[in-house]
Amino acid sequence: MATFILQDATGIGSDDLDPARGFIDMAIIANDTGLGMADPTAGKQRLVYARTGNGPPRLRLDAMINTAFSPNYGSGANNVDTIVVAGLKSLVLDDGTPMADNGTALPPKSSGLPGASLNPTEQCLVIYDTQLAICVARDGSGGVLDLPVSPPVALYHEFSHAFRIVNNTLLALTVACDPSSPEERAAIIDENDLRTDLASRAGTSPTLRDPGIHCGRLASDGEECCCIIATLVSRSPRSQQVQKLRCARDHFVRGTEVGHAFFDHFFRDYYAFSPQACTLMAGDQSLRHQLLEGFVEPLLDFWNMMVERGRCVMGSTQLGAAFIALHADRGHAEQRRAALQRTSAYWESGAGQSAEAPAQLMALLRERAWPSPYMQWALVAPVRLMHALLTRYLAGADAPAIGRAFTEALDAWAPEVPISTLWAGLPAAQVRRELGFCERALLQTTKSKTRFRQRLGERFPDITAVAGVLGRLQTIHKGDTW
Ligand SMILES: [Zn+2]
Repeated sequence: MATFILQDATGIGSDDLDPARGFIDMAIIANDTGLGMADPTAGKQRLVYARTGNGPPRLRLDAMINTAFSPNYGSGANNVDTIVVAGLKSLVLDDGTPMADNGTALPPKSSGLPGASLNPTEQCLVIYDTQLAICVARDGSGGVLDLPVSPPVALYHEFSHAFRIVNNTLLALTVACDPSSPEERAAIIDENDLRTDLASRAGTSPTLRDPGIHCGRLASDGEECCCIIATLVSRSPRSQQVQKLRCARDHFVRGTEVGHAFFDHFFRDYYAFSPQACTLMAGDQSLRHQLLEGFVEPLLDFWNMMVERGRCVMGSTQLGAAFIALHADRGHAEQRRAALQRTSAYWESGAGQSAEAPAQLMALLRERAWPSPYMQWALVAPVRLMHALLTRYLAGADAPAIGRAFTEALDAWAPEVPISTLWAGLPAAQVRRELGFCERALLQTTKSKTRFRQRLGERFPDITAVAGVLGRLQTIHKGDTW
């Protein structure tokens, strides 16, 4: 006994199964005529496999289908089968858990392993949505969530967890998705075996998932999980800058609840328009070039400078010198300013002004991107700021003058970072810690810190923990460092 496809979900969840799709997904994984199904018995159908091919996915299926597993979770060895629950999007488990766009491998009820309490049976359940459409982090992209997960890939990923469940070799699991837990890392590495196998069948080179990141997001209708920034940059020599941006994210987020909340919100708003924007840009070479030069490159430069500044506190003149170093090539600097000028014409004037900005793209940005304070703060304001500084620099300003203008602009911009409601739920000690982090990483100057503390106080006047921390700080020393 070993692996089955469930035909009847009674006792597990709603009657929203598609066992035929489950077998098709399994057949895609195997790509081997040796895979078949026995007649259904007791609401499930057993898989049979006489392997004719090699490679990791086939060897794994062979092991799962043709081994009688008897793990001992502490109360004696017991036979454990793996039951594939191939759901439709509407599948809901009996405890109310929806399975739409999800997959999970549940250890037997009495195994005591993580997730066991959700399993009403003594078998290992592999549950997945046969219609799922999610996007995950592409390896080498610096955490860009633009790699699609197809249902067979999702099934194979869950099979990897199941393999360690029935062998009683499950690794550590954590809730956080970045970095991924040892168990998720192992499943992603296995998942990449299938991606490699699928690509080699198609005669292409594989695009792999980043084993270090388990985060994912929903793909919208018909979307190919696309990030405009990564797409524009991926074929340019600056693709390593996206990698650096990943470091920027790590720097600003590391160990903080508020940082995580910020990026959750940011990505939700970003991916509300990025995929469609990619579609609109596809094939329009001049628009792609314009957006790369007049938006993405200045944006990456800005954020890389912010990371540097967060690492080692940079004085105003140093900041000016860093800006000038980025624009040392005058011809290129002039070109960039012209591109920034065109970009700013796009968003100042809406569609009018330029035939280079397609009306549909402008409508998309107006509707979905600009109304988001996260997009305004993280994507729009920095590019405007870079534009203004570049104009000054090209008019002859030196490093100290650029540095002063830069510092002043940062003092106006940084403390306006969108404030998450998460602050309201933090105990005082954590408010203090999170605030300390924001001030070191982002705010830095007394002016910035004071303004941010003021906004925080105004936003949560009735939250004792926030008010208490801010009050205490005020009595110590206004704008004090930590
Ligand atoms: Zn997983």
